[in-house]
Amino acid sequence: MTLVSFAHPTISKIGDKHWFHEINDSFPGQSFGLEVVRILHHSQSAFQDILVFESATFGNVLVLNGIVQCTEKDEFAYQELITHVPVMCHEKPAKVLVIGGGDCGVVRELVKHLEDGVEEIVMVEIDRAVIDLSIKYLPNMAKFHNHPKVKIVIEDGFKFLERLSSLEDSGKYDVIITDSSDPEGPAQEFFDTGYYGLLKNALKPDGIVAMQSSENIWLNLPYLCDLLNKTSQVFSNVEYCQCYMPSYTSGQLGLVIASPAKSRDLKNPVKNFDDRKDLFKYYNSKVHEASFVLPTWAANALEKRTT
Ligand code: SAM
Repeated sequence: MTLVSFAHPTISKIGDKHWFHEINDSFPGQSFGLEVVRILHHSQSAFQDILVFESATFGNVLVLNGIVQCTEKDEFAYQELITHVPVMCHEKPAKVLVIGGGDCGVVRELVKHLEDGVEEIVMVEIDRAVIDLSIKYLPNMAKFHNHPKVKIVIEDGFKFLERLSSLEDSGKYDVIITDSSDPEGPAQEFFDTGYYGLLKNALKPDGIVAMQSSENIWLNLPYLCDLLNKTSQVFSNVEYCQCYMPSYTSGQLGLVIASPAKSRDLKNPVKNFDDRKDLFKYYNSKVHEASFVLPTWAANALEKRTT
């Protein structure tokens, strides 16, 4: 696919270079841009528009419906925070479920916990094409897609959870991570109370969920207040944390961390691997705690949930 003849709403020629711009109604008046070196893949799957390109400075980039999902340069920040915050707060996160997560970055991070309590990893991804393309173009993220402890199910995560509605307690999960794309497209249902109810039903009473919030404090604070209000209708213990993420619009992404158990401390890990310097690139126990500390205006708004 030559760049010169390639047409896509996110790619334009400026001077003698081609640029990707994440232009989306969710981010009015601004867009994140990357210089494109070459187009690696473009297709319309049954669920979404899939673009993979090589960028000049962020490595290979996966884009779904025009929105950046991950870049090789900074993916570890998000993958590590959304995985290790819930897992490190749990004494024995034996059964872990990932909803979405087609790039397999969360699975890669979960495999690091097979020696400290994680026994079973199930990932439910709606679009097989995202997994296959990640194996090809994001090999460091997808390197454990065929690990013996990892079970990949190709199905709509919402429907998968609905089928679990009669689950016995013993079959329920200790940790559930929603690593979904943004609300436009097949992940739309993941940002509402119906989904949170299904999550709670599939979770042990002391379990923990982590969900990408799709917005951050700079972009849409009222949306975050609303999201936290909705989550609080279902879970009695709800917190918000965030990571630095240059390739997500506004340079940050927030996560909702929640549990039905009010007494569970979500802000402080119960385990500490800080002496194992090779294990994590972004996460450590201080980053865990600090990720819940917000600037004053945002902390006030989320606390009062008035905006
Ligand atoms: N880290 C990314 C972000 O925050 O933008 C998310 C990455 S991951 C690629 C998101 C995955 O969720 C995609 O592969 C998409 O196909 C999957 N997904 C979207 N809707 C889904 C659904 N209803 N069931 C299961 N997976 C879904």
